[in-house]
Amino acid sequence: MSLTVLMNAGPWLSVPPPGYGGIENVIATLVPELRRLGVRVVLASVDSSTLDVDEKVSVFPDGQFSALQRPYNQVCGVAQAHLSGVVRRLRQRDDVDLVHDHVEAVGLATLAAMGPDAPPALHTLHWDLAKHPHLYGHLDGGDRVRVNGVSASQLARAPRALREHSVGHVHLSTPLAVDADRRPRPEKGDHLVILGRINPGKGQDVGARLAQRVGVPLVLAGPVGPYHRPEDLAAAGDEARQNPDVRFFHDEVAPHVDGDLVRWVGTVAGRERDDLLAGARAALFPLRWEEPGGTAVVESLALGTPVVATARGCLPELIEHGRTGLLTDDEDELADLLLAAGRLDPDECRREAAARFTPAVMAQRYVELYETVRRGAAARHLLPA
Ligand code: UDP
Repeated sequence: MSLTVLMNAGPWLSVPPPGYGGIENVIATLVPELRRLGVRVVLASVDSSTLDVDEKVSVFPDGQFSALQRPYNQVCGVAQAHLSGVVRRLRQRDDVDLVHDHVEAVGLATLAAMGPDAPPALHTLHWDLAKHPHLYGHLDGGDRVRVNGVSASQLARAPRALREHSVGHVHLSTPLAVDADRRPRPEKGDHLVILGRINPGKGQDVGARLAQRVGVPLVLAGPVGPYHRPEDLAAAGDEARQNPDVRFFHDEVAPHVDGDLVRWVGTVAGRERDDLLAGARAALFPLRWEEPGGTAVVESLALGTPVVATARGCLPELIEHGRTGLLTDDEDELADLLLAAGRLDPDECRREAAARFTPAVMAQRYVELYETVRRGAAARHLLPA
C-alpha cells in the first residue's frame, strides 16, 4: 500500500512510553502493524522515542510530561511548539497523504485551522468528550478533518458538531491479545484486582469498600496522581494533597486499605502487571464515569481474567454479560457478582481478546478509516464551485 501517514503522538512522552502512557502505548501498538501493511509512517513525537518508523519529527529532545504539573500560563506553549513543528514539516514536502493526530484539543484545532491545502486528517478522541465543550461544540473541520472515537458509547454522548465530523470508532487493542487463546492457562488465585489510575471515576473507593464487606482480597494497582510507589506518596507529605487524586486516595480509599485484605501496591508494569492480572479471580471496574476506551478491560480479557464492572461507558460493548464478565448498575449487586465471577471461563475471555482486540484488528480498522477520510476530502474537489 503506498500511503504516507504522519502519526502525531505529541510532546508529552516518548513512544513507546517509559511506563504509564495510554495514548503512546496505542501508537506503539498501531505503528508496527501499519508498517507491516505497507504504510510509510512519519512519527511526530519527542527525539527520545525509539519506535521504528520511516521518519521522525520532533521539537523537544525528551517527553515534557512533567510540565503538565505546572500552571497553564507556564506550559501552554509546549503543545503549540510541537504542533508548529508538525505544520512546518507538512509544509516542507507534500508527501504526507494523511495526518493521524492524537494530541488533545490543540491537535484538532491546529489541523482544522490549516486550510484547504493541508492533508486530510483523522483525530482520535482518547478522552472524555464532556471536556472542551467550546472547541467540540463549534468544530468546523470542513470535509478535510475527521474524528474517531474509541467506543460507540463515547461518540454517542459527543456534542453534535463533533459527531458530525465522526467516521466511527475503533476499539483499543493490546499486544497481549495476540495468540491469547494459545498460551498456557494461568493459575488462578483468590484475589480481585483493580488496575488503573486511582481516581474517583475509576471507583477504587467503591471496590475497596465492597471487598471489605464480602471479605475477598483486593489489590489496587496504579498511580495516585504523580506518585507511583506507596513510599513516595508517604514521603510527599501534606503538600501532595493539592492534587485531587491524592486527596481522593487519602480521604476515600485509604480508610479501607488495611494492607492485608485490601492493598495498594502502586504502579505495576511488565511481567509483574501481567502476572497480577492473569492470576486474579476477576478484574474489577466499579466505575462512576463513562469509561471511553478501557485498555485495562481489554488487557484483562487477553490475560484470561473475567471483568466485573459497572455497566457504564464502553463496558457493555467490550464485555458480554455472563460470558466474558458480569455487569450491573447496582453497587449492591456488584458485591454478589464479585463472588460469582470465579464461575466464568477464562478461556472465553482469551478467545474474545484474540478475535476482537489484537493490534492487527485495530490497524485494519484504521486503514479503512484512513480511506474513508481521504475519499471524503477528495470528493470536495470534484464538486462544482
Ligand atoms: N497500567 C499499568 N500499571 C498500573 C496501572 C495501569 O501498566 O499499575 C496501565 C494499564 O495496563 C492500561 C493503562 O495503564 O494499559 C490504563 O489505560 P485505561 O484505558 O484502562 O485507563 P486510562 O488511565 O487511560 O483512563
